[in-house]
Amino acid sequence: MLDCPFCAIIEGRSPSHTVYSDDDVIAFLDISPVTRGHTLVVPRRHSSGLADLDPLIGSRVFATGQRIAAVLRSSEIAADGVNLAMNDGRAASQTVFHSHLHVVPRHAGDKLSFAKGLLTRRGGDLESTAAMLRRAMQAQA
Ligand code: 5GP
Ligand code: ZN
Repeated sequence: MLDCPFCAIIEGRSPSHTVYSDDDVIAFLDISPVTRGHTLVVPRRHSSGLADLDPLIGSRVFATGQRIAAVLRSSEIAADGVNLAMNDGRAASQTVFHSHLHVVPRHAGDKLSFAKGLLTRRGGDLESTAAMLRRAMQAQA
């Protein structure tokens, strides 16, 4: 879709910090991460939300989220936990209407810094984080 920011990334019309890519899904860092390593897993074929997301592709999105979660734990991010979340609909805080799964690394005792991250959404060095996670994903494969 022409006016969809994630289709623009998938079609190479906008840049992204890609962590993983295959025929069905692409995963890239959130431009405004809540925590370092916050990744979005996005089906290549446009669907606006759960209602029009092919469940088979949804399973590919989830499986990719599982792999990224494992890498967020085992890599230098050293996550102690991970939040997987899909916001479906404006009432559920969805702002980009191309379905996507948030993969958000968490650390023990991070409640305060997590709440701050939700408010500030600061980028940090997305390029070096993406490069590190790409390498870790390749090593895991
Ligand atoms: P939602 O609120 O729809 O669940 O999440 C949309 C997410 O996409 C937000 O966390 C936002 O920071 C992220 N986002 C919005 N536009 C872009 C973009 O152009 N590139 C990237 N990498 N992330 C984006
Ligand atoms: Zn789209």
